[in-house]
Amino acid sequence: MCAARRPLKSLGQNFLVDQNVIDKIIQAAHIQPDQPVLEIGPGRGALTKHLAKRGGRLVLVEFDHALAAFYRDQHKDNSLVTVIDADVLKVDLDTLLSETSAKWNVVANLPYNISTEVLFRLYAVHNRLARMTLMLQKEVGDRLAAPPDCSAYGVTTVLLGLWFDISRVFIVHPGSFHPSPKVDSVVLNFIPRPEPRAEVGDEDVFRTVVKSAFAMRRKTLANCLKSTELAKTVDWMALLEVCAIDGRRRGETLSLEEFALLSRHAADAVHTDAVRQKGEPQGVL
Ligand code: SAM
Repeated sequence: MCAARRPLKSLGQNFLVDQNVIDKIIQAAHIQPDQPVLEIGPGRGALTKHLAKRGGRLVLVEFDHALAAFYRDQHKDNSLVTVIDADVLKVDLDTLLSETSAKWNVVANLPYNISTEVLFRLYAVHNRLARMTLMLQKEVGDRLAAPPDCSAYGVTTVLLGLWFDISRVFIVHPGSFHPSPKVDSVVLNFIPRPEPRAEVGDEDVFRTVVKSAFAMRRKTLANCLKSTELAKTVDWMALLEVCAIDGRRRGETLSLEEFALLSRHAADAVHTDAVRQKGEPQGVL
């Protein structure tokens, strides 16, 4: 299958060729009999072969048109397998995963150039997931486990940490791929939590607070927050004081719990403002 064609660097095509690693990923995915499975980037099928063999619902999203066409043809008589020939970043995952109330298992050796973006997309559909087993560039994986106040700590650490328990399964060395990437990779398990790690009040507000805090790492937290849209309704200086968080700190020093605290108070301010605006007289007849 398309094996003769050169792997495309632009699509992050580092194909797994190490059977031991492949077996360990499938084992780590711990797929239950009736669980629907989403694979992002099946590539030459290292993982797909095993996922398809179990005979359950399987959705493959592949941006390489030739590979997508291959899978579409291979599974044309199997209504349990759907092949989506598209950029996963353009796929409405929420709609896709809402076809069943069963929770999905996501398995992927992610293309490294878009892995962070894909993580954000998967974070947004955490409530539809049972588990994810993802291979990432080790550096990206390390970020997810980084503590506050270190350069690896960032938006992915805080957002994914809110909703997932993340554990390292094993490290994969470049020789397990063709072609070999320049860096090590890591396989991680993501188990969605029944409740978030901290109460954030409003997830949109939380996302805005976290993203803005890391947007300009050299600026103080207060300055970062003041440049958000929310600053129209939220008095950030007063709110920082209420939360006993020093606005001169850098955003990257805040723990997830501190982000949650800020977000809860900001969400209150936003909702109070919305109620006030609704209650205001609309004009005199
Ligand atoms: N799963 C295979 C394996 O483990 O050998 C292939 C993994 S390879 C690292 C990444 C795969 O993702 C490739 O098949 C590539 O064509 C596909 N891909 C790259 N960018 C994509 C995108 N934006 N949307 C969907 N698939 C993409």
